[in-house]
Amino acid sequence: MDNLSEVKNEIAKTAADCGRKPAVLVAVSKTHGVDKILPLIEAGQRVFGENRVQEAMEKFPSLKEKYPDLKLHLIGPLQTNKAKEAVELFDVIETIDRVELAEKLAKEMKKQDKNIPCFIQVNTGEEPQKAGIVPRETFSLLEKCRELGLNIIGLMCIPPVDDEPAPHFAFLKKLAKQAGLSELSMGMSADYPVAIQQGATYVRVGSALFGQRDYSKIGRASC
Ligand SMILES: *Cc1c(COP(=O)(O)O)cnc(C)c1O
Repeated sequence: MDNLSEVKNEIAKTAADCGRKPAVLVAVSKTHGVDKILPLIEAGQRVFGENRVQEAMEKFPSLKEKYPDLKLHLIGPLQTNKAKEAVELFDVIETIDRVELAEKLAKEMKKQDKNIPCFIQVNTGEEPQKAGIVPRETFSLLEKCRELGLNIIGLMCIPPVDDEPAPHFAFLKKLAKQAGLSELSMGMSADYPVAIQQGATYVRVGSALFGQRDYSKIGRASC
């Protein structure tokens, strides 16, 4: 069986086992060229994730022209000076983590007459080097985003690599519930079944679909 069918089956099976709706599969195509992305599109995959605006701008405008129903998620840290391009290209922004960025995005969306669904990224492990708002500031950031008119649909996290992921996922779900948010973007190739068990509604899967990434082609990843 090919990778895409395998991952989709695993999502469906895990969701069914816990009596949940299958999570949306975000195929993380960072570092991979259009030649690797096209076969997935042809096999029916429509939701993709990229972590750098610049790289996505090189690959997705032509793909989106050819396949207008593609949905592209921004899953990497966003600099305010890239907000314009991000709003132009992406259909979902998963990585709002500070007021300054929320303000810039709100302004851009007004300018472009869009209201793109967004997630707030939470740094559940409170790792200093990692993007995401610290958990205790999630609610005030959410309130600010709502005042700005942003359409925040859920929370997103990337647990620390050396931690057991399940407690982080359970924690994110609890935070989302307290905040009245229904969507949870959590789980990557190594742990998406665990994330679904904990209530993920979106899983972001790269290497299980595309194989290992070769960063030498594009320089170091930004997260
Ligand atoms: C790269 C990346 C993923 C996918 O990671 P894999 O381990 O390849 O599945 C998911 N989420 C984010 C934020 C990423 O940067």
